[in-house]
Parts: sequence; structure tokens; C-alpha cells
Amino acid sequence: MEQAIISQAPQLEKLIATTAHEKMPWYHSKIARQEGERRLYSGAQPDGKFLVRDREESGTFALSVMYGKTTYHYQILHDKSGKYSMPEGTKFDTVWQLVEYLKMKPDGLVTILREPCVNPNCAMAATPTVPPVRRIGFLQTNGYTPPPKAPDRTLPMDTSVYESPYSDPEALKEKKLFIKREQLMIDEVELGSGNFGSVKKGVYKMRKKQIDVAIKVLKSENEKSVKDEMMKEAEIMHQLDNPYIVRMIGICQAESLMLVMEMAASGPLNKFLSSRKDQISVENVTELMHQVSLGMLYLEENNFVHRDLAARNVLVVNQHYAKISDFGLSKALGADDNYYKARTAGKWPLKWYAPECINFHKFSSKSDVWSYGITMWEAFSYGGKPYKKMKGPEVINFIVAEKRMDCPTGCPDVIYTLMMDCWIYKHVERPDFAKVEERIRTYYYSVSKKTPPEENAEEAAAAALPI
Ligand code: AMP
Repeated sequence: MEQAIISQAPQLEKLIATTAHEKMPWYHSKIARQEGERRLYSGAQPDGKFLVRDREESGTFALSVMYGKTTYHYQILHDKSGKYSMPEGTKFDTVWQLVEYLKMKPDGLVTILREPCVNPNCAMAATPTVPPVRRIGFLQTNGYTPPPKAPDRTLPMDTSVYESPYSDPEALKEKKLFIKREQLMIDEVELGSGNFGSVKKGVYKMRKKQIDVAIKVLKSENEKSVKDEMMKEAEIMHQLDNPYIVRMIGICQAESLMLVMEMAASGPLNKFLSSRKDQISVENVTELMHQVSLGMLYLEENNFVHRDLAARNVLVVNQHYAKISDFGLSKALGADDNYYKARTAGKWPLKWYAPECINFHKFSSKSDVWSYGITMWEAFSYGGKPYKKMKGPEVINFIVAEKRMDCPTGCPDVIYTLMMDCWIYKHVERPDFAKVEERIRTYYYSVSKKTPPEENAEEAAAAALPI
């Protein structure tokens, strides 16, 4: 829940503010004008008794107010920038703010609003205490304000892969490292491949539901060492449970050894971004990289080092949701250790590795921070290849000479500064993920509050009033 609030706060804030009126007792949703009058005339008829309703067909709102036993109807204007107002009146970001204001100032109405005409279908019987004309978060008067329509995108927490398939206690009882072959349906569709074999699409049947899965199938001719590597990856993944990390469902030993994972259908981040340069905004990239920092913070807090963080190993669930994957090189650190020391160098992704990894074979969350910086560079250059055509040893000399990659075109300065800090030579001086997450979050929240709308809200007709 905490991570949902942190990562989805800007979207949630917009959603709550722009739909707040729907929870108000004075909001009657779509009723005809005559029905509005009937409701106002039922019971006491004091001056200022009011209700708000959706206007039929137009998608705008109307305000109906009782004064001197007569009902007056007003159209609530909704301008191009998404603001609500009475004609010539003060503009507000949301309908509930306008109503709260009209309780204090008539702004052209026959009277100020007083008593709500309570919607008989409203769950809240009494008038809720709504803060008076408060400006929250993105709802600023200066600068751009997005039109207050509900966001039309799926939030990560609304997807099936936000929570573990085992989050339900009933399902948790069934959780085992080894899963049964008969619960697994394997599709011929190949999602990707590696030297171990291929990754196939499939479905895993649980007692109450079926989930889409990605299945890493080990080639039968592989040596025992490859099998051992896959088992080590499974053991690490089995211990992790975070919305921004691909979860393992289990291991299946059947016609081949298979590692069954949650599905991240849109594939690796580098390919995803390079094929959608024109569709994905820098803010959107920031959102995805913030999610990666949340996943890495979880690893840091739980004493795991990833050792292979790169855009190719960040998988995309949808345009607004990414998860860290590929734990083939990952290690769980001992309780008293803050680094892992590799005995020998292996087939390492040198361009993503911090100097202490290459020089002393020492891997820590701080060396993952270095890799996160490279991953940021890849993401903000929309799938660019780091260090161009340089080979591993050339990259090492480049870093030792205190050189760093240039800022990707269009990448914000704040983001580039963070990248550069991830590439501080001495690991003790490098920020940890707690700091990295906080910095990218602060920047992401600041830009997402100013984001222009994807499309202009329909301009409300400035019809003659009262309607
Ligand atoms: P890997 O060996 O883990 O890097 O996987 C190889 C490729 O398989 C990746 O680059 C993806 O295209 C695909 N893949 C791996 N895991 C998943 C997953 N959980 N969901 C969707 N595709 C995946």
C-alpha cells in the first residue's frame, strides 16, 4: 500500500480531486431537470437548498438552487483548460471546490448555496466536512492545470501483477517452490531467448484463478552448471515480493526444468522505448524509472544485490508500469555484510559495472546504484546503447579518466545530475537507493503536477443562463 501511494500518488491525487464531487450528498449524477426540481421541492424548501446534476447529453454539470420557493438552474461552465466556474465567476479546478466557494459567495447566483438537497442514493447521509476551497498538490492557480477528467489509464495497482498471486491467504497455502506440470499450460509463443533456452508464454492454473505467465525453459542439452544457475535464480526470486520486481510463481521440473514467472507482456524497457520514441514522454520515462528505483530500494532494504541491472532487464507490464527482472547474477548478502565478493570474474556486463566491481570484484547496493545510473541513461536516451561502440576495457579507461557519458538529448538537468551522482567513483560517496528513490520521486511529482493534458477537454458551450 505504501508503495502504491508513493509510486501512484500524482495519479491518485488527480483521480481523487477530480471525482470528489461524486461522493458528495448534493451530487445527484444524471437526472433530468424536472427530477432535480422534484427532489428540491420534496421536504423543506429553504433558500439556498441546492443540488448538482449531470446535464443530459452534454457531459457538463448543472446547479439547481431553490430561492423564494422557485428553482433556478445554472450551467456550470467548463473551459478549455478544464476549469469550472459560473459565468464571469471565479474558476476552480474541481466541481467540489466551486460548490464550496458558492457557499460563501453567490458569484452571480440568486443566493449563496446553503443546504444540500441530499441525493437519496448517496451513501453519505450527512454533509461531509469538506475543507474550504483548499488547493491540493497539482491544483495550483499559477501554471498549467490539467483538465479535471478522470485519468483514462490503468494504474499499476489495478493490474493483476501488482499484488502477488499468493497475496490471498487461501492461495498462499498452496505456495511451493516446485509447481505441478498439470497446472501449467505452455504456449508455443516465444517471448524471448537466452543461452539457457527460451522464454515461452503460458497460463498457470491456480485453485481460484488462472494467471498469464512467462516460462523460462532450460534447453535439455545444457550442462549441469546452467541448471544450477537457474536454480540459484529461482531461490533468490522465491524470497522476493515487491510490485516492481517480476515475481517467480515457481519451478517446474517436467520435460525440461522451467522457471515460471509473472508475465510482463510489453517486454524489455530498452526495446519498448526505442520503438515508441514519439509516444512516450520524458515524464513517462521518469515514472518508469521511479518504479525501478522503488524495486531497487526494496532489494537494498532486504540485503540483496542485483548485479545485472540494465534496461534489458527491466520488463514493461504496460506504458506506466515496469518491473525489474533477471536475477541470474543476484546474491543475498549475509546479515553482517554489505557487499558480495566474487572469487573470479565471469561473463560480466562491464559497461553497467561500477569501478569497485571491476577492480576488486566487490558488489553492493552502491554498485547497483552505478548500474541504475547506466539504466537511467539508456531509458532517457530511449533505448540508446551506452558508451556507443567502446569495448569494455576502453570504458574502464574512460571512467578512470573521470569521463562520463553525455546527457541524453531532451533529458532534464535534474535527471542527468542524478545519473552523474550514481557514477561517483568512490562507492562511499555515491547516493544509496533510499536517496536515489527520493530524488527521482521529488522530480517526478514536480513534473507530473504540471503535465499538459493529452488532449484538450471539450469546451463547454457558454450557453445563456440560467438554463
Ligand atoms: P532473460 O533471460 O531473463 O533476460 O529473458 C530473455 C527474454 O525473455 C527477455 O528479454 C524478455 O523478452 C523475455 N522475458 C523474460 N522474462 C519475462 C517475463 N516475466 N515476462 C515477459 N517476457 C519475459
